[in-house]
Amino acid sequence: MSFYMPRVVVIGGGVIGCAIAERLSLERHHVTLLERDQLGGRASGAAAGELSPLSGTAQAEAQAQKSLKMFPDLIERIEKDSAMNVEYHVQRGLLAAFTQDEAADLQANGGRWLDADESRKAEPALTSDIVGASLLEHAHLTPPRFVRALARAAVAHGAEIHEGMPASGFDITGREIARVVTPSASFDADWVVIAAGPWSGEVAAGAGVSIDVRPQRGQLAALDPSGLILTHSIFWASGYLVPKGDGTIIAGGTEEDSGFDDRPTAEGIASLLELAKRLVPSLAGAALQRVWAGLRPVTPDGQPIVATVGLPNLIIATGHHRKGILLAPLAATTVSSIINR
Ligand SMILES: Cc1cc2nc3c(=O)[nH]c(=O)nc-3n(C[C@H](O)[C@H](O)[C@H](O)COP(=O)(O)OP(=O)(O)OC[C@H]3O[C@@H](n4cnc5c(N)ncnc54)[C@H](O)[C@@H]3O)c2cc1C
Repeated sequence: MSFYMPRVVVIGGGVIGCAIAERLSLERHHVTLLERDQLGGRASGAAAGELSPLSGTAQAEAQAQKSLKMFPDLIERIEKDSAMNVEYHVQRGLLAAFTQDEAADLQANGGRWLDADESRKAEPALTSDIVGASLLEHAHLTPPRFVRALARAAVAHGAEIHEGMPASGFDITGREIARVVTPSASFDADWVVIAAGPWSGEVAAGAGVSIDVRPQRGQLAALDPSGLILTHSIFWASGYLVPKGDGTIIAGGTEEDSGFDDRPTAEGIASLLELAKRLVPSLAGAALQRVWAGLRPVTPDGQPIVATVGLPNLIIATGHHRKGILLAPLAATTVSSIINR
């Protein structure tokens, strides 16, 4: 006996679209993923790769923790199915406090508290200006590899992936999308998932559906610290320093309203270098290796949208803001549960 498995067209080959394609193809759905440019070519390839559940609200933190727990199994599976290494590591981080108020907030959130001396003993390069730091366990990976591995694993499970193929319209029959149209081909669909990052609103508008998602620019700088070794990621307010496996330290990340302009700017990079020097003064002598930027998808309330919207067979999966890499496994299982219910 054979069961009919739905044909799912996923629009967008960032981390969210690729995680959804991997999950659905593993479940034997017929998956076609359409990417306008190249896989991971936008925010998903630009991200720092931090998997830190720290968040502004308890609800967001619970979601982030849930997704973080999915990583070990997911990484094991996609590394096997893609024959790639995504450089996933569990690591310790320090959440620095410069004032007693910041320290009180961090101590109220639990985690092991280190006073200034203990913090500097853990990470000797850390500035002596801090009053202390909270120790946390988190993980990180290399985002462009993660996106590629998800896509390769999806293909290994039978998914079709087309790069350089933008979704340009929809054929709608009754109240459902019957086909996704591109300039060179069209694809029959039982379900359509729009995971086009900050372009999701523009794509959904083609199906007559309105969603409110906008781009927010984030900039990063990679520093070559010439001999300095950090053994922890260091977080403070909205910025961070992340030591990577290649010996560089990534300083991130600005939050700017710049429309769809994803070029790094003098002012943005200057603010990151200030942050780096403030946290680790000896980084003043580091060589600036690379700067880049990406556009995070953001909704008005800052929360992701992963739900059917407007049409019964249209799922929107976007708005993952600063945590799209971390939240990708959760987005994929949520889409799967909508389609399988
Ligand atoms: C500087 C920076 C640092 C970050 N660091 C982290 C981090 O450390 N940890 C973390 O968890 N998150 C981080 N993020 C956030 C994370 O990168 C995003 O939340 C995530 O990448 C969003 O993924 P996405 O797939 O929704 O969007 P995108 O990566 O933007 O992918 C959407 C894709 O859709 C494609 N597309 C658009 N229109 C169409 C169309 N018509 N047809 C077909 N395809 C289309 C685009 O070309 C694009 O490839 C960071 C973001 C930035 C900018």
